Amino acid sequence: MATGGVYRNGSNKAPNLRTSSSFKMKLPASNVRRSIPGGATDSVSGRVRVAVRLRPRNAEEMAADADFADCVELQPELKRLKLRKNNWDSDTYEFDEVLTEYSSQKRVYEVVAKPVVESVLEGYNGTVMAYGQTGTGKTYTLGRLGDEDTSARGIMVRSMEDILANISPETDSVSVSYLQIYMETIQDLLNPANDNILIVEDQRTGDVSLPGATVVEIHDQQTFIELLRLGENHRIAANTKLNTESSRSHAILMVHMKRSVLGREDDFSPENENRSHSVGNFKPSILRKGKLVVVDLAGSERVHKSGSEGHMLEEAKSINLSLSALGKCINALAENSAHVPIRDSKLTRLLKDSFGGTSRTSLVVTIGPSPRHRAETASTILFGQRAMKVENMLKIKEEFDYKSLSKRLEIEMDKLIADNERQQKVYENEVERIRLEAQKRITEAERNCGELLEEEKVKCQMDYMESIQKLEEKWSVNQQKRVANGEVHMDTGNDEVKELKALLQNEICLRKAAEEENKNLKLQLLKFSKAELAGGSTDIMNLQEILEEESRQKKKLEEEVRALRSQLSQLSTEASQSRSDLERGRNGNTAGLDCLSPLNHLQSRDSSNGERASIVNLHEQVGLQKILSLLESEDANVRIHAVKVVANLAAEEANQEKIVEAGGLTSLLMLLRSYEDETIRRIAAGAIANLAMNEANQELIMAQGGICLLAMTASDAEDPQTLRMVAGALANLCGNDKLQMRLRSEGGIKALLGMVRCRHPDVLSQVARGIANFAKCESRASSQGTKPVRSLLIEDGALPWIVQNANNEASLIRRHVELALCHLAQHEVNAKDMISGGALWELVRISRDCSREDIKALARRTLTSSSTFVAEMRRLRIEV
Ligand code: ADP
Ligand code: MG
Repeated sequence: MATGGVYRNGSNKAPNLRTSSSFKMKLPASNVRRSIPGGATDSVSGRVRVAVRLRPRNAEEMAADADFADCVELQPELKRLKLRKNNWDSDTYEFDEVLTEYSSQKRVYEVVAKPVVESVLEGYNGTVMAYGQTGTGKTYTLGRLGDEDTSARGIMVRSMEDILANISPETDSVSVSYLQIYMETIQDLLNPANDNILIVEDQRTGDVSLPGATVVEIHDQQTFIELLRLGENHRIAANTKLNTESSRSHAILMVHMKRSVLGREDDFSPENENRSHSVGNFKPSILRKGKLVVVDLAGSERVHKSGSEGHMLEEAKSINLSLSALGKCINALAENSAHVPIRDSKLTRLLKDSFGGTSRTSLVVTIGPSPRHRAETASTILFGQRAMKVENMLKIKEEFDYKSLSKRLEIEMDKLIADNERQQKVYENEVERIRLEAQKRITEAERNCGELLEEEKVKCQMDYMESIQKLEEKWSVNQQKRVANGEVHMDTGNDEVKELKALLQNEICLRKAAEEENKNLKLQLLKFSKAELAGGSTDIMNLQEILEEESRQKKKLEEEVRALRSQLSQLSTEASQSRSDLERGRNGNTAGLDCLSPLNHLQSRDSSNGERASIVNLHEQVGLQKILSLLESEDANVRIHAVKVVANLAAEEANQEKIVEAGGLTSLLMLLRSYEDETIRRIAAGAIANLAMNEANQELIMAQGGICLLAMTASDAEDPQTLRMVAGALANLCGNDKLQMRLRSEGGIKALLGMVRCRHPDVLSQVARGIANFAKCESRASSQGTKPVRSLLIEDGALPWIVQNANNEASLIRRHVELALCHLAQHEVNAKDMISGGALWELVRISRDCSREDIKALARRTLTSSSTFVAEMRRLRIEV
């Protein structure tokens, strides 16, 4: 043994003791790993920490030992304790902490127990144990409740305070058991009836537990204090009953703590990284199960006695087997013995984890100052010194908390479902909003179109009113002039009629422009309705209704135009009547030859009865041959008169054959070729037109190159009346089934179509008649089984004009065109062109609106019998 100044550390096997500077050394978190199922198991070494606490002298010692110095001398700053051997010699011991008689309970807690409690909160097991002679302050250090003075609270109370302050009541739980071991039986201090609790050892993990012990869940400090008080009372009662003392039993408080902590990133292997991100960092939380064991040991003097007084083992057992077994275990551990006799006692089995196990263990050895108990004190100090050499391997006690993870996932799933439902709702609202917006826009567009059409209509009406007014004014001025002068110069009358016609022409042009505009708007509406098809048939129905309304308006306007036209025509008739009256008054009966075209019965029939009679007379007097020879007269005047006579004769069916037989047709065709005079050409064309009504003549006209001549005249002539005659002649030829190909190949169709440049309704009407005739022949041919070929009319580009004029304001033109469309449509091979050319819409219109029931029915029949049209109408959702 070393003398003064030499440390008595008990063994030089623990050279590291000096360097372990702080008792409070905490475990670095990074350094401490867990033993998670499936995870790596790490541990960190943790030596048993030992503090020595000196009790102040009590009253008795003050009196009895007044003349003696304490047996120990403390050097707390050096963490050393000197144990006097005599007045001049002492042994020095170093501890992890040296607590003087003045150390407060708070400080004792902080240096001895607090680090252990903190470890327990992190998921380690922890042990705080007091060892020492009876009366040195073990219970004072551990078990004081601090009822009257809170500063006196011991380690048990303060530990629980710390634990409760650091856990969250929602996820964590704390429960306690309170036991005592006496004579190798374990008694439940919370339920005295439970006086022989068995220790159960888990074969797999080696963990020990006391399933028979009462476990009380702690939610607040007060409950815990009451439990401690109850346990203490039961301890006193039990010891009284067994006729023993508390100093001969060990009191053990077990605090079980379960904490739930969220899993950490590194709890997952890299291959699970994606998964953890995709489920929103869902990891099972980790359940930490720390256990704090606070042991208030029986008085150590018993061990000493049992050893020093040479008691037999049996006797020692009866005194305190557990305490001596603890000493042996610690010796064995301190000396790294191969065998540690843990199983020798209940206490050592229970404290299996506290010494040489995984627990963070802190021991406080309590000593008294009295030199009378020097031997006990020395023994206690040596116990402490040996305990300091015990190394534990700290292991965190945690496992994945799949239960709470599943609960969390359930909650998260509910949240996601709710989120999803909310988003679905938002989406539906958005769709509804867009739908309403679209609806609004459609309504707006419809309104705008309607307004535009309305404006256009009003404008047209105004224009017409204005022109009627002008015409009326002009007429009344003329009337006045005539009344005032008694006569009107023929040229003036002619000019006025021309002017009126020009005005009408102008009006028609205006009307056409309006018509065009209307058509454009309709097309726009059509396009719009096509675009909106996807939006549902209601939109189309709406648009169709609007269209129908527009067509009704248009019809009304057309009626007005027709009325205007008939007024105008009446005006013209009256004007020409007055002109011819005037002329007859001036020229006598020569006016008889100046007849109007034979086709123009409207103008001529009533007024020319007298003239015709005189022509018949002339014909009879002179003979047809002679009249025909006059057609080649040198005198232009004679030629004109002659041609007029022939034309008048040709108007009568009875004369036609004679005229042709006499070579009149050839002469008339010659006149067309000469085109020296517009009048002659006009009248000749009229005569040819009349002759062309007869089928036999049609072939003759063709044979004599009439088509070319007519085509030439059609392209040269400017005068609408000439063009009307030419068109009339061609239209008649168009009605001959045998001449179709030739008519076309010699340019008859092209010539007919070319004449629409003159917008005169009479010309257009003849063109339309020709087209209708031609189409009719074609459809007849196809129905008679001729090989189906595309219509020659379509080949020659007639379709655009047909479509354009299908709704012409002049009913005559309209009828012809409508018929032409129906005929073309009967020929399936034309259907595609007709659809792309917009003819389908016109046919649909005709099938709905045509005022002639037969044409209407024909159109409907035609539409429904063509598979191409039916398919297209289905596609456009049109019903007829
Ligand atoms: P043990 O439990 O070791 O037998 P106790 O804790 O019962 O000892 O203490 C014996 C007596 O000494 C008690 O009256 C206690 O109040 C008193 N005592 C113990 N330690 C101290 C101390 N540090 N300061 C004041 N009094 C103390
Ligand atoms: Mg005690």
